[in-house]
Amino acid sequence: MTHSIRPIEDSLAGIEAAENRGLNATISFDRDIVNRQAEEIASRTSPTPLNGLAVGIKDNICTLEYSTTCASRILEAYQSPFEATAVTRLRAAGGIVACKTNLDEFGMGSSTEHSAFGRVRHPLDADRVPGGSSGGSAALVAAGAVDAALGSETGGSVRQPAAFCGVVGIKPSYGRVSRHGLVAFGSSLDQIGVFGVNVAVAASVLESISGRDEYDSTSAELEPLQAPLDRQDLAGLVIGLPSEFFPEDLDPAIAAACRRTISALENAGATTRTVSLPHTDLAGPCYYVIAPAEASANLARYDGVRYGLRVPAPDLNALYRATRGEGFGAEVRRRIIVGTYVLSAGYYDAYYTKAQQVRARIARDFATVFASGVDLLFTPTTPMTAFKAGEHLQDPVAMYRTDVFVCSANLAGIPALSMPIGRSDGLPIGGQLLAPAFEERLMLDAAHVLEDHIESEEETR
Ligand code: GLN
Repeated sequence: MTHSIRPIEDSLAGIEAAENRGLNATISFDRDIVNRQAEEIASRTSPTPLNGLAVGIKDNICTLEYSTTCASRILEAYQSPFEATAVTRLRAAGGIVACKTNLDEFGMGSSTEHSAFGRVRHPLDADRVPGGSSGGSAALVAAGAVDAALGSETGGSVRQPAAFCGVVGIKPSYGRVSRHGLVAFGSSLDQIGVFGVNVAVAASVLESISGRDEYDSTSAELEPLQAPLDRQDLAGLVIGLPSEFFPEDLDPAIAAACRRTISALENAGATTRTVSLPHTDLAGPCYYVIAPAEASANLARYDGVRYGLRVPAPDLNALYRATRGEGFGAEVRRRIIVGTYVLSAGYYDAYYTKAQQVRARIARDFATVFASGVDLLFTPTTPMTAFKAGEHLQDPVAMYRTDVFVCSANLAGIPALSMPIGRSDGLPIGGQLLAPAFEERLMLDAAHVLEDHIESEEETR
């Protein structure tokens, strides 16, 4: 699918307008860097699928064009000597690295308030958060500055901000996109994801970055994704509705938007069926053991010697303490402490081993449902719409609970997509489709058909 050309000047002006409005969605942006790439693409003799599409890149994905800070003081001026495979492929397909976008430090957070460069504002209401951790990418797409952006997912960091901002967000299957050049957070969960103004744009970017990469041994031995979006309806598809994602106390506006979406799925020809994923309530606790455990190991490399910040100190241990104490923000320090604790000799079995056992059950729940004749699942993406800045900052567990519907897909390694399905008091509501591992094509087809059937602008209450 070829993307329609939007003049690069339009995106340049859009990014500047977003920054002038104070969204704080970008960390690095330079007109000359963008124009140089646009000229190079214009000079190519054969057409490219992305055709000069300007793409915002989350600042935990390595690029040669700009620094890669992870929104952390510890990598404040870090210039990567190599670029992520996804970025190389994006550029080969005619995509332009437009800017680097703001995030929760190292991807840890759900509101993009935990950034060393300040919080990102929601494009529709500056007092609210855009979600996180890929909040800068989501806000830029929602503000109309760029049509697509890359984000990353460890536990919902593309889908949750996509839902809050009213754009499309895709988390691919684990292994679909190379992690080479994505700064590691939780290596068994991490995956680069895509934001788009609509399903077609997001799908074409995902096609361009997917595929086996010899630099990432966990990338799947598969050809790059092809998603021509050629389905006209959903006839013959069975869509499961997991009851655990529709609790009785679900926000009434979100429940109403889901009911309308379920009708739209049925009107498009799908059959819907209530199913059960019995370990869903354990996904959050399980994720918040495994992700910090892996983070504590991955972030050990920021020692003041090899990368970025070095705070001078009289001896090596003091250097570690000073650099890591000053370089990491509070949430990152909290994750490292939790992760170190659950991996420590006395607690490993009680927390880490237990969490791995729960993770296997969560994956099995999905496998069982998909083996029972269900093609896709539909759920709300989040239990709430965009919340106020500061609302959950003093209560980390309340912040973690905003991810209850998204992190199980990461634990199971399956693809999932969030798309706008309505509004509540003017704020976007997201709906989520989930598919068996490597069934992105079916998921994208269904989302594309559904997009046509939804009157997403309708006020829900
Ligand atoms: N909000 C989750 C966390 O804080 C997810 C982060 C992510 O997906 N990068 O860990």
